[in-house]
Amino acid sequence: MVAEVIINRGAKKLNRTFDYNIPKELEDLILVGSKVIVPFGKGEKQEEAFVVKLKEKSEFANKDIIKIEENLTDKQIELAKWMANRYFCNVSDCIKLMLTPGTRTKNKEKRIQDKIINTVYLKKDIEEIEFEIETKKIKSEKQIKILKFIKDNEGATIPEIEMFTDTSRAIVNTLIKNGYLEIVEKKVERNPLLFKDYKKTEKLQLTDEQQEAFEKVEKAIDENRFEQFLLYGVTGSGKTEVYLQLIQKVIEKERTAIVLVPEISLTPQMLERFVSRFGKEDIAILHSKLSIGERHDEWEKIRNGDAKIVIGARSAIFAPLANVGVIIIDEEHDSSYKSETTPKYNAKEIAKKLAKENNIPLLLGSATPDLQTFYKATKESDKNTEITLLELTKRANNSSLPSVEIIDLKQELANGNRSMLSMELYSNIEENLKNKRQTILFLNRRGYSTFIMCRNCGYTVKCPNCNISLTYHSYERKLKCHYCGYEQNIVTVCPECKSDKIRYFGTGTQKLEQEIHKQFPNASTIRMDIDTVTKKNSHEEIINKFKNENIDILIGTQMVVKGHHFPNVTLVGVIAADSSLNIDDYRANERTFQILTQVAGRAGRENLPGKVIIQTYNPQSFAIQCSREQNYEKFYETEIALRKQLKYPPFCDIILIGFNSYNENEIKKVSNQMYEELQKELNALRNLQENEIKLFKPMPCPIDKIQNRYRWRIIIKGNMTEEINRILNDSLKNIYKQNIKDTRISIDVNPNNMS
Ligand code: ADP
Ligand code: ZN
Ligand code: ZN
Repeated sequence: MVAEVIINRGAKKLNRTFDYNIPKELEDLILVGSKVIVPFGKGEKQEEAFVVKLKEKSEFANKDIIKIEENLTDKQIELAKWMANRYFCNVSDCIKLMLTPGTRTKNKEKRIQDKIINTVYLKKDIEEIEFEIETKKIKSEKQIKILKFIKDNEGATIPEIEMFTDTSRAIVNTLIKNGYLEIVEKKVERNPLLFKDYKKTEKLQLTDEQQEAFEKVEKAIDENRFEQFLLYGVTGSGKTEVYLQLIQKVIEKERTAIVLVPEISLTPQMLERFVSRFGKEDIAILHSKLSIGERHDEWEKIRNGDAKIVIGARSAIFAPLANVGVIIIDEEHDSSYKSETTPKYNAKEIAKKLAKENNIPLLLGSATPDLQTFYKATKESDKNTEITLLELTKRANNSSLPSVEIIDLKQELANGNRSMLSMELYSNIEENLKNKRQTILFLNRRGYSTFIMCRNCGYTVKCPNCNISLTYHSYERKLKCHYCGYEQNIVTVCPECKSDKIRYFGTGTQKLEQEIHKQFPNASTIRMDIDTVTKKNSHEEIINKFKNENIDILIGTQMVVKGHHFPNVTLVGVIAADSSLNIDDYRANERTFQILTQVAGRAGRENLPGKVIIQTYNPQSFAIQCSREQNYEKFYETEIALRKQLKYPPFCDIILIGFNSYNENEIKKVSNQMYEELQKELNALRNLQENEIKLFKPMPCPIDKIQNRYRWRIIIKGNMTEEINRILNDSLKNIYKQNIKDTRISIDVNPNNMS
């Protein structure tokens, strides 16, 4: 017997199969989908590989498979192949998502206590590293082994690395010295399910609206029928209770359930809702904060059939859960369901495919649904309402929505107020401090932080590697690049014109915190942004501190908006709503609306009324106006009309073909070649049918250089049909057949980030 295998390596050239003989003793054990070890290449190095086909014999097979490591099912292999085609990547990259991470936990007892440990992360960009391995810049086999291991297991400890890669600490140190890896001190958190007692909760009497939603999904479960539902209801309207009761229903039928939530929302409070209803024995949790061993254990628990409910972030959709009866995706509008690294899959698409194959319902839930989802759930879409709309119009616990006020910053300036706080926001904070209530101040995205500019000649300090403005960090008094980490000392004299008129512009969280300290010297504050939430301080710790120590003011970026309950927060201030309105992206309005609506939802939850103050230079913007009214439908109507007029999703797909290379000439050459080939193919298609496709010429990306690699792109606007998919896959293959030195190409459909 012979096995056709795919080598588990990123290299494009290896995206084909190789034949190996199956030794007699393995014949009965090997399956399509097995992860095996084979001798490969000149030195007969041992490489991981995946079996994709079994056959009687082959004239090309002249080596034996060494051993079997793990078996996948036919269905998983099929899914991986489907993904490779749809997301323009290697089958092996997709298979990896379905394999058990890491290995069994050793010394279970040691994990019971929280402790600080040294963990290892990649310091260089993974694409960079893979390129260096392919071009033999990194030669040491042991070093390569470690880098590959860390790639799949960021946050591993040094003993773990030594054990799994059979290497030594000295090699890890060399990789650290050479800038490939870094050590990060981390507090190991216990598996959230192991801790404390929880009270068992019983199901609540559903409201009429909840009952109606429940019954519709229940019917699809009972009838073994694929159907997509959108559960649309404001925060607090009782969506989670509907999920819980559907899961209970599924379990009563001896089936299982997958629940996806955004990573950042996988908080202990959130998990407790599930654990207290179903008990921890039946639940498996998959999230990135678990140690490798714990992740492995959860995966095994699922594979062995010991888990009935899987709760996890994006990649939990690949959990090997048998007999699934319903898939639930909460906060379905969240951009984290779309992977931004290879494979660039969308978990919502995968969920739909799985639900369809298994004849089960897919339930999406949101207070501010993705425009595309809502469009498919409304009558005007010609697709015959692909998604059934279920609505919850009232808050289940009868708490009221906060009042929202919009402040025009232009007016403030005209009145002579140059501070970051409008008069209104200032007096409300003052009032709140007096009443011992908590406040959240929200700065829209981190890109709004300080850059420096010469007022004399307009010079700005840019990163030499990435060509974007460096950001000023006042604490370290350094200028830093947010893309590659490059840093330099601050400048006081302009390098261009030698004037001393250097000024700092923009508003970061640090600057806001300083200003708050100046204006309210007695207020306690805590800051949450990318700088404070690093690999070592979790988001959760900051939230807990804010809550438990009753800190007066939380200052933060995006991170503060995710589903937390802060009973004592009665005021939320948005410092400047504008920066997300001005991003170079067709979703600018949608992002602004979603984020403002979510932030507003943080104020006044239980029985205290809340107030939200939104400061902006664009008070007339409809995204801001609609978020003031918390009126999703009005926002939807305006935005969908705009999308239709300008032809943006959901009325077409945006396909982004990205190129990056050290070599400026080569990147131009390759992108032009690809353009010409696509033009030819698409023209032929256009003649065949009236398919409206727009192909744009290759252009440098808005950020045209990152870590010394030039970046170009081609954009296609049109519907992502099977034909276009084939054309793209073919032209990708053709391009790679040519003599390309170091240009890499990636294709992303409707990417989150267009820069
Ligand atoms: P969402 O998921 O839409 O934010 P939740 O399901 O968390 O809403 O419900 C918000 C609050 O209302 C929770 O405290 C929940 O226990 C309560 N709740 C939900 N449904 C009911 C119900 N039918 N009767 C009473 N309370 C309910
Ligand atoms: Zn100057
Ligand atoms: Zn840089």
